[in-house]
Amino acid sequence: MLEVLNPATEDVVATVPAATAEDVDAAVARAVRAQAGWAAAAPADRARLLRRFAAVIDGHVEELARLEVREAGHVIGNARWEAGNARDLFDYAAGGVERLTGRQIPVPGGLDLTILEPLGVVGVIAPWNFPMPIAAWGTAPALAAGNAVLLKPAETTPLTALRLAELALEAGLPEGLFQVLPGEGAVAGNALVEHPGVAKIVFTGSTRVGKQIMARCADRVKRVTLELGGKSPNIVFADADVEAAALAAPGSFLDNSGQDCCARTRILVQRPVYDRFLEVLAPAVASYVVGDPADEKTQMGPLISRAQLDRVRSYVPAGAGIRGSAPEGPGFWFPPTVLTDADPASPVAVEEVFGPVAVVLPFEDEAEAVRLANATEYGLSGSVWTRDVGRALRVSQAVKAGNLSVNSHSSVRYWTPFGGYGQSGLGRELGPDALAAFTETKNVFISTEGPAQ
Ligand code: NAD
Repeated sequence: MLEVLNPATEDVVATVPAATAEDVDAAVARAVRAQAGWAAAAPADRARLLRRFAAVIDGHVEELARLEVREAGHVIGNARWEAGNARDLFDYAAGGVERLTGRQIPVPGGLDLTILEPLGVVGVIAPWNFPMPIAAWGTAPALAAGNAVLLKPAETTPLTALRLAELALEAGLPEGLFQVLPGEGAVAGNALVEHPGVAKIVFTGSTRVGKQIMARCADRVKRVTLELGGKSPNIVFADADVEAAALAAPGSFLDNSGQDCCARTRILVQRPVYDRFLEVLAPAVASYVVGDPADEKTQMGPLISRAQLDRVRSYVPAGAGIRGSAPEGPGFWFPPTVLTDADPASPVAVEEVFGPVAVVLPFEDEAEAVRLANATEYGLSGSVWTRDVGRALRVSQAVKAGNLSVNSHSSVRYWTPFGGYGQSGLGRELGPDALAAFTETKNVFISTEGPAQ
């Protein structure tokens, strides 16, 4: 049994049976049957059903958001966005079904066609930090490309995933096509990875587990997409609108209590504006509204679990740094924290804390900014604040990360590709090419030469 706790109160929200390896076997068998019918259905019908699924999600945004507040402690405004993001993913992917075209390549002696075939059954293994969006990032394009999906949500956050599966049936998606298997990573997750009937694994989670999964997929040459950790830089040049940069910085690492793979947790500030930047940042951090996630005014809720709270505490000396507030009493609370004297090589400056903690480091010039930004094994996101267009482009090109933003902290848009360099992952999700990652390309050559005389 999985016990789902409300991280703001520690009350038990639900208990959910945990899927066993046998449950995964049975689910794969159902998915194989459903996928055959789905792939054979007319593209327009598949597109229509996915659009209908999006419409049903749209009708349940508030319900899904409230569920996410309770199981994950997300603030209600974010949770609504997350349910809306899942809806948008299915809508967007539906538009791809009828546009998933192969090519006709000029060759001598015949006609050459490429055909994009579905992979079959896809396993999506999701983390707890954005349960709905990340489930949809894998599931929507996989279904649109003609696959069946088995989704394993994180142990702590199975409820919205289970509800999405019910809504899929309500929308008319065939039984067995999209199934949710709540369970332990080492049991249900592992069974998906090992199962010969699962053609691809889309994994989002820690780099540690991602590496294990990649190694196990290698045994079967199983396809894999990995979205892993990050330690993203926020680079503020002296020629930027420094006030705007300082006011935007708290949200870039406090959103979702810092449990965001794109969190800008290494704030690099050019020396001449370093003091001014902190002068504006400090009160913005101190006044960040932390508390009941169901309250519309709250900006930051709790961490997901006691284990995560202990992990975050282990990185930060008690009382250190610029601090915001956090409620006392039950719940997994940690205050917004900015460290200004961290050693750039210390764990808090190098490792992914996955909590509301950032370090601020000064730099002298563009070359040093780029060097510091790239001094990480990760490469997921990053921001550049400057009014100099040339510098914005130079630095965006020089930083080794998959998702850069200039004078903004936006990383995730369903229209544009998302993924990491280095140990932040492998492959890309979202954007116009998302469906292609769930297909095999088959090449067929048709000879136009007559029979040999
Ligand atoms: P995690 O790696 O512990 O777990 C992720 C998922 O993998 C869970 O569903 C878990 O049950 C499952 N799992 C664990 N062990 C497994 C195993 N041996 N076999 C199969 N599945 C297994 O990560 P988490 O703590 O849930 O999530 C936080 C991490 O996710 C952070 O590192 C964060 O950066 C990363 N993340 C990355 C992105 C991205 O897009 N790059 C997005 C969100 C989160």
